[in-house]
Amino acid sequence: MQQPMFIGHEIYRGSSYGRWHPLRVPRVSTVMDLTRALGWLPDTQFITSPRAKPKALRAFHTDEYIAALQRVEHSQTATAHDLARHDLGSVTNPVFPEIFRRPATAAGGSILAGEMLAKGGVIYNPAGGTHHGMPDRANGFCYLNDPVLAMRSLRHHGVQRIAYIDIDAHHADGVEAGFGGDPECLLISVHEARLWPRTGTLGNDAGGNALNLPVPRGCNDTEMAYIRDTLILPRVASFRPDAIVFLCGADAVEEDPLSHLALSNNAHWDMLRALLGMAPRLLVLGGGGYNPWSVGRLWTGIWGILNGQQIPDQLPVAGENVLRGLSFDGNKRGRNPPDHWFTTLQDTPREGVISDEVKNVVQTLGHRPLL
Ligand SMILES: [Zn+2]
Repeated sequence: MQQPMFIGHEIYRGSSYGRWHPLRVPRVSTVMDLTRALGWLPDTQFITSPRAKPKALRAFHTDEYIAALQRVEHSQTATAHDLARHDLGSVTNPVFPEIFRRPATAAGGSILAGEMLAKGGVIYNPAGGTHHGMPDRANGFCYLNDPVLAMRSLRHHGVQRIAYIDIDAHHADGVEAGFGGDPECLLISVHEARLWPRTGTLGNDAGGNALNLPVPRGCNDTEMAYIRDTLILPRVASFRPDAIVFLCGADAVEEDPLSHLALSNNAHWDMLRALLGMAPRLLVLGGGGYNPWSVGRLWTGIWGILNGQQIPDQLPVAGENVLRGLSFDGNKRGRNPPDHWFTTLQDTPREGVISDEVKNVVQTLGHRPLL
């Protein structure tokens, strides 16, 4: 496979978890529209995501849970048992029209990516990255866990050593549930300290193969660069992965409504640039991200970088129109969006001092032996 491949689907367009849910905003459809407006997504690089069959989902999820998801989609009702047993129908994980099909499509894309990457290459599935999903229950807006399914798929197709790197604002608790203690999997999660789900503390090594980096509120680009160069890149290099799975949650940037970090999208892009070429296989997944402009701009830039495109200083009119067409109802950030959210992809870098808390995290983990 020579060219990077983009896995997408129209199911994400117009799909919403409900009027007041953070996942009411468009995300993947923006990335598809914007990459096309820029001329970066020819049909030859686009794959329509398959929907995972229940049998394929069994690689991580229980039969009972998969059946419940299908039934709830059909009836559009969660019973008291569904709520108690699988957290379906809660405020966090509500019933919505595509409650099975949408996550199963994201999962189908990630499972396909695992298969295609057996031969090597680069794949982007921005709808993927549902890193909180648990075997028998929904968790943190994630009904299924496509990163775990992607990694199981890689293994199934003969790819053994996997480095999973996650810079979403939240800890990758579901991926840890799937791969904690696996000596041929390196788990690295950088996330906001004390934020939900509050797991992924500095002392937690998930059975010996995880580096968890809780970073303080206000974490800036300089700190992320320090973490990357001092800890992440040396660890990935010495692990010598056959594949890298990179989850670039857009909720770690300053404008996100759910977290309190102060990164710019340069932090994500520079992490990607550094990881490119460190393994013969790369799967890039989306993740969180609840400001429709930050998500669209960040994830579009990811695809540009994977393809060696120059990030334009100013978007062409067709691209600007995609961003001007977005709205963010019910959030103050949607009232007066600054002009650069419409006219550019790249944020101004947000540099700053490296806090003692970040230095301490890196120093502590730098010495930690792994499996
Ligand atoms: Zn998140």
